[in-house]
Amino acid sequence: MAAARLPHSKMGKMKTDIVIIGSGIGGLCAGALLAHSGYKTIVLERMPIAGGRYTSVKYKGYTVPTASWMLLYGKDDPVYKTLQEVGAPEIEMRGAGTPMARYRISGNIYDWPEKGALRYLLSVASHDEDEVNRVMTALGQAMSEETPSNEISFRDWLFQYTRNEAIHSIFQAQIATWCGMNADELPAGEFIRALLSFRGKSDFRIPKNGLKDIIDALEKVIKENGGEVWKLTAVKQIVVQDGESRSIIAERNGNEMEIEASVVISNIGPKKTIELAGVGNFSESYLREVNEKVRPSVGMDYLFITDKPLLDFPGTLYTTDTRRKVSWSVPTMMWPEHAPNGKHLLHGFAVPRSTLDYDPKEEHDIFMQDLMDVFPDFKKCGGQLLLRRNFCGEWPCTRAWQGYDVTQETPIENLYNVGDGAKPEGWIVGSGAAESGRIVARKIMERIKPWGR
Ligand SMILES: Cc1cc2nc3c(=O)[nH]c(=O)nc-3n(C[C@H](O)[C@H](O)[C@H](O)COP(=O)(O)OP(=O)(O)OC[C@H]3O[C@@H](n4cnc5c(N)ncnc54)[C@H](O)[C@@H]3O)c2cc1C
Repeated sequence: MAAARLPHSKMGKMKTDIVIIGSGIGGLCAGALLAHSGYKTIVLERMPIAGGRYTSVKYKGYTVPTASWMLLYGKDDPVYKTLQEVGAPEIEMRGAGTPMARYRISGNIYDWPEKGALRYLLSVASHDEDEVNRVMTALGQAMSEETPSNEISFRDWLFQYTRNEAIHSIFQAQIATWCGMNADELPAGEFIRALLSFRGKSDFRIPKNGLKDIIDALEKVIKENGGEVWKLTAVKQIVVQDGESRSIIAERNGNEMEIEASVVISNIGPKKTIELAGVGNFSESYLREVNEKVRPSVGMDYLFITDKPLLDFPGTLYTTDTRRKVSWSVPTMMWPEHAPNGKHLLHGFAVPRSTLDYDPKEEHDIFMQDLMDVFPDFKKCGGQLLLRRNFCGEWPCTRAWQGYDVTQETPIENLYNVGDGAKPEGWIVGSGAAESGRIVARKIMERIKPWGR
């Protein structure tokens, strides 16, 4: 059944190979690859800037991310690979160097060594080599022999090998920071696949002007290859006929327009895709799957201004002994130009005890207590709040919990989902969103030729 069509007597009309709804990192990676391969590509973005949750803006003189900070897998990141494949010029980026991370465990701080890091941290957490061997052997087997099922949470899986809370807290800190979830929400199998996806990859990188540098580069590739990226253009409807997507209807500068496209790629999350295409066009089973599976991950995100850097290295400090397991960093240790002269940024990120049911006010109070415990000199150093954001709902950490994503294909022909509700297994957050865009671009290139070829 087709969704009800809007009246379109005065509607502008266009035709293209590919329409992409939303200019998030998933949409732009797909768009850059397709435009570079000769497909006429139009990206439609309802906001005044491109990039969604994967860019940076200037706010009160500071460089601030809209959500995401870094290319998690550095030069092995799907975003970096995309830039290379489309011939974009090299972007100046920095990593943390050594140590990449530090962990506060039971009040003491330990560096993440370059080799044998996990064994070392488990060992200082438990002081019990038998316990460390048990956990390391189980992890080794899970990574090389039999991946645990997704039916068991990582926390329950780990309980089989240790009840040591300090060890659990090390994993919880990593899972919260990387996935915006808790260890009892993350499927064990997916945690192991995520660990494997990091194996042998280079460490994270942050561009000079934040992720805006990446978004600008991808946008440029699309435009240089005959495509368009239109801002302030909201898609209102995906027109479906006979089980196939035919066109989209969008509003731009107060006018409605219809763009006929061979393929529509939606970067706005599986639930919104269904809404725009019309519920009646999807099978009961698909609707049930999306409704049951797709739930957003959550992050409490804080940026503070200080007069001095509150950490003395540019990597991440994980505090595993705080009320919430928080990750802290001072981005201005890496890029001083992200703050006005003489000022620094302190970034803190934590996940509520349950991402499904929490009181934001209570979580905020807990976060502030953790801040004061970790940085007792915060006020003396001129510490003040720059920005406090609770990433959830329609602007979440990820649209689908890790391990709960839907496939990129939809039951509607020539309609695909990309983004962090359609991440491939094992690929996390923005890198997973980018990888979904790459997968969809490849699938389209295998199936459909650009016009005139
Ligand atoms: C605090 C925080 C830190 C993070 N850090 C990292 C990190 O360091 N590295 C990393 O890889 N990931 C990180 N992530 C996750 C990352 O930000 C997201 O996974 C990623 O940005 C999601 O991209 P996406 O492709 O799903 O698109 P989105 O960012 O969701 O973009 C979708 C776009 O579609 C537009 N849109 C919506 N509806 C319409 C419509 N009807 N018409 C037109 N346009 C529309 C929106 O305006 C938006 O711009 C972090 C997330 C949070 C919250």
